Amino acid sequence: MATYNTSSDAANTMIRAFLTKVGENYLEHSFNTGSGKGKEIWTKIKRETFENKCAFCGESSENLTIEHLVMFNREQCGLHHPGNIVPCCKPCNKRQRHQDTKQYYDWMEQLETKCETIDEFKIRKKKILQHIKDKNYPNLNEDEVNALRAVAMSLYESTSSELEKSLNLFKDIDKTLVRRR
Ligand SMILES: [Zn+2]
Repeated sequence: MATYNTSSDAANTMIRAFLTKVGENYLEHSFNTGSGKGKEIWTKIKRETFENKCAFCGESSENLTIEHLVMFNREQCGLHHPGNIVPCCKPCNKRQRHQDTKQYYDWMEQLETKCETIDEFKIRKKKILQHIKDKNYPNLNEDEVNALRAVAMSLYESTSSELEKSLNLFKDIDKTLVRRR
């Protein structure tokens, strides 16, 4: 549990729920990586496709977590989908940002920073691209990604404003309660 829950936490959770729904819509089934079929798919990706190694640096680790290649946020709008998840170690999970634009690196730029040689980069990139293809990650065109981003942005803003509305609603109700005391 978070110890301090802000409006932006709630809005970001809403965005992830939305990107999960869109991913499941393409998949045509639910994709809960925490249990059942979804967990089986994730375990297979981690153990068989990536042999329990971080997809970025190649280190073997017992503590590999799910990384969304196209980030699972309102900026990149990556979907929660088998073709968009890879195992990742803790240090590689922290995506760098471009200094000038402050935008996050895409997964290929991130991969480049984690490889020591150009050959390593080529091999790992090929493996990831093959994984995306094998798992049929939807090939969204630029217009579709822009549409996703616009909807996500609107969801972000409406979630934040719903919280403000709830606060004001409570204040109004509380005023009448205090009057009656
Ligand atoms: Zn790593």
